[in-house]
Amino acid sequence: MEFPIFKTKIEGVGKKFDLTNPSQRQEYFQLKAGEEIKKIKDYLENNSFIVYLLGKKNSGKGTYSKMFGEIVGSEKTAHISVGDIVRRVHEEILSSKEKKEELVDWLRKNYRGYISVDETIQALLNRSTKTLLPTEFILSLIEREISKMPKKSLFIDGFPRDLDQVSYSLFFRNLIDYRQDPDIFVLISVPEAVINERIKWRRICPLCHTSRNLKLLPTSKIGYDEQKKEFYLICDNPECKGEKMIQKEGDEAGIELIRERLNKDQDLINKAFSLHGIPKLLLRNSVPVEKAKEFIDDYEISPEYSYELEGDKVKIIEKPWQFYDDQGNLSYSLMPPPVVVSMIKQMADVLNL
Ligand SMILES: [Zn+2]
Repeated sequence: MEFPIFKTKIEGVGKKFDLTNPSQRQEYFQLKAGEEIKKIKDYLENNSFIVYLLGKKNSGKGTYSKMFGEIVGSEKTAHISVGDIVRRVHEEILSSKEKKEELVDWLRKNYRGYISVDETIQALLNRSTKTLLPTEFILSLIEREISKMPKKSLFIDGFPRDLDQVSYSLFFRNLIDYRQDPDIFVLISVPEAVINERIKWRRICPLCHTSRNLKLLPTSKIGYDEQKKEFYLICDNPECKGEKMIQKEGDEAGIELIRERLNKDQDLINKAFSLHGIPKLLLRNSVPVEKAKEFIDDYEISPEYSYELEGDKVKIIEKPWQFYDDQGNLSYSLMPPPVVVSMIKQMADVLNL
């Protein structure tokens, strides 16, 4: 299974963009995919679609779909994370008797499955990350979420989550009576080395819980801990008043902590890849260094950051990040915007716009 490298480089155009700057990013999208963006916006005036996002944990599913939504119209699209729904419903049940009753009521009218409504509530309260909730129950929760929003294009993240759920996803739009919307699989390929570094260098603000990355996505201010002899990120949120961001317990182990989940995600991607009769968009996060010149612009490459002490100031060093992909090719990682450009262009294509 090979994801093609998508060419975002336009020959003869030398203009550079700072892709972390929102207004430059808009300009960038117009240059690279302006025509397709217009076609998709026109399409969304009277139509919608359903997307199933499939990628390994920490592969950027949320980032890509939210950025896509912002470009083509965030009032026309919705990102539905099954993990978030389950957490929210859990909180609802615990928060008040009325909310719990409202949920139970809804389930009595809409849920069909092998265990009772009361048992589904128990399963939800007792769930761990290792055990999956019954598929019929998950489908009901997604349906309930969708019923709350007016007609929108949907990006569903976290379903299918298991191999036997792939078949359900083929009939899902019929199950939820979601018109004759085109349904599309978006498959995301991210090398494990990238996921590993995203976890290992992740830093969280203890106050506002913002997540950044010491190596890949630093804050604007960096501190130095004299005792531990290490650099740390300082939260940018003014309300946090210079709080030191910290590593979550277990993150230092990187990818090994979620090995089982990653293998399952890979099986899911393989299975979806082999499906017939449903369009697939293939998003690829990495480009071999030797092919980069031909396919991408330099400013589309993810940088890595390192730090040095200069007197009592911290010097920030930025350079293109290189690593070995799953096939052993020395590679670059793409910043989210070029990946979203490939998503926009492939989407316009499968919608026949
Ligand atoms: Zn903070």
